[in-house]
Amino acid sequence: MKRSVMLLICAVMSFQAAAEEVLIYAGKLVDVDALKVRSNYSIEISGNRIVKVSSGFIKPKQGQKVVDLKDKTVMPGLMDMHVHLSGESNSQSYSERFKFNPADAALRSTVYAKKTLEAGFTTVRDLGEHYKGVPVALRNAIDKGYIVGPRVYAAGKSIATTGGHADPTNGVNHQLMGDPGPEAGVINGPYEAMKAVRQRYKEGADVIKLTVTGGVLSVAKKGDNPQFTDEELKAVVQTAKDYDFVVAVHAHGTEGMKRAVLAGVDSVEHGTYMNDEVMSLMKKKGTYYVPTVTAGKWVAEKAAIPGYYPAVVQPKAAKIGPLIQSTFGKAYSKGVPIAFGTDAGVFPHGLNGREFRYMVEAGMPVLEAIQSATLNAAKLLRIEDDLGSIKKGKLADIIAVDGDPLKDIKVMETGVSFVMKDGKIYLNK
Ligand SMILES: [Zn+2]
Repeated sequence: MKRSVMLLICAVMSFQAAAEEVLIYAGKLVDVDALKVRSNYSIEISGNRIVKVSSGFIKPKQGQKVVDLKDKTVMPGLMDMHVHLSGESNSQSYSERFKFNPADAALRSTVYAKKTLEAGFTTVRDLGEHYKGVPVALRNAIDKGYIVGPRVYAAGKSIATTGGHADPTNGVNHQLMGDPGPEAGVINGPYEAMKAVRQRYKEGADVIKLTVTGGVLSVAKKGDNPQFTDEELKAVVQTAKDYDFVVAVHAHGTEGMKRAVLAGVDSVEHGTYMNDEVMSLMKKKGTYYVPTVTAGKWVAEKAAIPGYYPAVVQPKAAKIGPLIQSTFGKAYSKGVPIAFGTDAGVFPHGLNGREFRYMVEAGMPVLEAIQSATLNAAKLLRIEDDLGSIKKGKLADIIAVDGDPLKDIKVMETGVSFVMKDGKIYLNK
């Protein structure tokens, strides 16, 4: 037999051996389609796919490894639609960018990625890099198995307008300020807007992020004014369609988010001053609201510490931060589609599960909160054929928490004890 043929046979055999067969016994199983918790279920996994979900604890077949989660609540891998894995805000982070290189941020982001996965988040959408190319490189390294982390859908650099939230040279001296353009994610006018979207495509982004109003943590005075024109938004949305990009917009102020929703974006992030009119528009157009309550509460708390944030940031953090939870409560009761998102990176990575508690406090039932972090998030990313629920044929992203989130929602933050992504177990304690 020729050596090449033998090598091929060996390769096929080792591939087959790698496809692990797993049988999970779930004491409680969250059905995010029916919004029900089912008791005593078996989930069979072959390689990276779920092959069967059946009632009762079935007998293991030969070669199946049994994972006993009979005393836990099992659910689909959680999905956070708003994180920033290339950074983590603290009182020093405003000077960090003058000392850090992308390589520093890239290595550090591997730690954040692992924490996020171990918190039960098997998929994240990274909505804006602090250091050039880091989230895309992180995604690639995770996909190749070099490092441990969630599936990453990366926006690359957020797209802003001159001086707007996410203009990377805000707050620096005039010599350093320069005049960043579409390549750096800063646009003025529809032509540059189009170019910035295409640039993100070229750099390997999966989604597009725009900062359509002022923001809290940028070194700039306004936290909520509109910062994109209708023409610019239209150019972004139309170009994004050509490349099949989902478009997310950071927005606090009403006018900016209204323009964005009318232009046809897929999600509004934060949404602080969202009024009835915008809520109705979002409901009508199916625009998702990604609330990020945790970040709002976190910045408001830190704003009370003298000197924690620059003087221009402090009043914005104190004022805007605490409002998000009640906006979320109103949007939920009005029927605006909700997809879970936290803005982790504004607060420490790995605490993403805290958002569930805030959502429930604001009036969302527990199972709907879990649905927003699984099925709804998968729909927003247009990957619901593969992810978002525990169903035959879907990818095996499955987690479990100790206890019962219906009795104590805090277990979503502190009780994650089993994590499987793509059929591989990363945590089992
Ligand atoms: Zn953000």
